[in-house]
Amino acid sequence: MAKPKVAIYWCASCGGCEEAVVDLAEDILKVVDAVDIVLWPVAMDFKYKDIEAMPDKSILVSFINGSVRNSEQEHIVKLLRQKSQLVVAFGACAHLGGIPGLANVSNKKEIFEIAYKLTHTTVNPDNIYPQPVTEIPQGRLTLPEFYDTVKSLDQTIDVDYYLPGCAPPPDLIMKGVETLLSGNLPPKGTVIASEKALCETCPRNKTKPDKMVIKEIKRIHEVIADPEKCFLAEGIICTGPATRGGCGERCINANMPCRGCFGPTKEVIDQGAKFLSALASIIDANTEEEAKKIAEQIIDPIGLFYMYSLPTSILRRKQGV
Ligand code: SF4
Ligand code: SF4
Repeated sequence: MAKPKVAIYWCASCGGCEEAVVDLAEDILKVVDAVDIVLWPVAMDFKYKDIEAMPDKSILVSFINGSVRNSEQEHIVKLLRQKSQLVVAFGACAHLGGIPGLANVSNKKEIFEIAYKLTHTTVNPDNIYPQPVTEIPQGRLTLPEFYDTVKSLDQTIDVDYYLPGCAPPPDLIMKGVETLLSGNLPPKGTVIASEKALCETCPRNKTKPDKMVIKEIKRIHEVIADPEKCFLAEGIICTGPATRGGCGERCINANMPCRGCFGPTKEVIDQGAKFLSALASIIDANTEEEAKKIAEQIIDPIGLFYMYSLPTSILRRKQGV
């Protein structure tokens, strides 16, 4: 019997999600044994035209990581949608827009200006910027078009399931693969992780005082964090209250606060706003001046509260550009 066909593709991402697949260790042999991989650009030499030639819906599942920020990524994810029965947004960038999505505080013009002109190591006296099409005597050179706005996968194509995390942990990946191959599918739109907030499963939750108040915000590199105590109760920002659990408290166990890569729980519309309101409720300030002073200790609030979710937040991007 023919094995089910699977595609793995990356868009705008750091490559960590691809490493997470390799992190399956010996379990990867079980996956390779069970499926026929038809596209995995980072590891195998398949061609886009091979996918184009396949009948529609002939791929059982495409796992797509990374956010969508250029025309090639948009084209390939639309192609994979057409050829696949199921599409899984794999990892925080495909799920929520991810860290590349923080570029939405800017636009293409500003990004190109910095990358190709203003960095100290760039010499570009003729102001040459990447162009989608360049005619040269030998022919025509093309590059994918760089978009102003970074999008999550479901802002570009219909998505069936989400495997959250930066990157998704191996046990969750295996659970997702086994679930999809079993044919016993969860409801469309399911995020394959816990339904609880991270704080609910965090071992440090029990150290939270009954009434939590903070008068000062500390950055993790400025203190030696107590490995037993709740970060937030110590004044160190930890987005556990606004983040979906299921990662195995990976950062907490390494004595680092959560930064929210699993995204919000089902009930939460905007992860950053949810965390901001949780934080505001514990800040102990008697005057507006005092509150302002504490708030000013939060360096880069967008980068902190929306580290993984700006494109799928209510804000989505800087407006007016
Ligand atoms: S705020 Fe962070 S450290 Fe505290 S209980 Fe929640 S996840 Fe754990
Ligand atoms: S603790 Fe938070 S940032 Fe770290 S892996 Fe878990 S969800 Fe992601």
